[in-house]
Amino acid sequence: MATIELDQVDKYYGSYHALRKISFDIADGEFVVLVGPSGCGKSTLLRSLAGLEEITGGTIKLGGQRVDNIAAKDRDVAMVFQNYALYPHMTVRENMAFALKLRGDNLVDRNAKVDKAAEMLRLTPYLERYPKALSGGQRQRVAMGRAMVRSPKAFFFDEPLSNLDAALRVDMRSEIKALHQRLGATSVYVTHDQIEAMTMADRIVVLRDGKVEQIGAPLELYDRP
Ligand code: ADP
Ligand code: ADP
Repeated sequence: MATIELDQVDKYYGSYHALRKISFDIADGEFVVLVGPSGCGKSTLLRSLAGLEEITGGTIKLGGQRVDNIAAKDRDVAMVFQNYALYPHMTVRENMAFALKLRGDNLVDRNAKVDKAAEMLRLTPYLERYPKALSGGQRQRVAMGRAMVRSPKAFFFDEPLSNLDAALRVDMRSEIKALHQRLGATSVYVTHDQIEAMTMADRIVVLRDGKVEQIGAPLELYDRP
């Protein structure tokens, strides 16, 4: 799986037209940020890319294959949400290993993958703790770790930092960007924060009322004379 291709993507919720003829491609290794005001369709588009939302018209392809034709277990993508969605009754290690257990990795493999991700995320000292004993930033790192251990080709982030305080948000921006580069992943990142978009994106897609209003590198969009 390499590029992500969107061709004339349309989405209706009943009679409400949430996405309107959206077409653009995302290259392998790119960090694309979807930005725009609340309700413009960012989450809908992201969920559609991940195959979690059925579109009404047009096509979405991951690595040349229509996303709706790829079985969920073969979709080589991971979502990271703002609310972490960690299991409270599981330790950090168990949280991070959960998806690997489901797909049948053995204990030795699971531990090796979790240890490696924990080291990259500076979570090694916390592996045997429960989520409630972690700070917000640490929980967000565990959520990242859970996504990373499966070595997905693409990460889909839905406002992952919006629950964190301002200083931590700034640190986590550069951490996420560094991880993206180190993993050689393709990332699509939703935010309503223009500064976040500016500092993180290779390319920004500005959505308004379900349409692509602008698309380009940060300086092309915001540094016009
Ligand atoms: P954003 O992420 O940019 O805030 P969303 O993609 O969440 O926007 O929502 C886009 C529009 O679609 C909004 O007007 C929202 O109310 C509507 N919408 C989102 N999900 C649903 C749903 N499941 N059913 C009906 N309308 C929805
Ligand atoms: P066709 O390919 O002839 O349009 P299908 O039965 O294959 O018919 O598609 C059913 C519906 O799924 C169509 O409305 C199509 O727009 C939609 N669709 C196409 N690509 C995707 C996708 N990637 N995700 C979800 N729905 C899609």
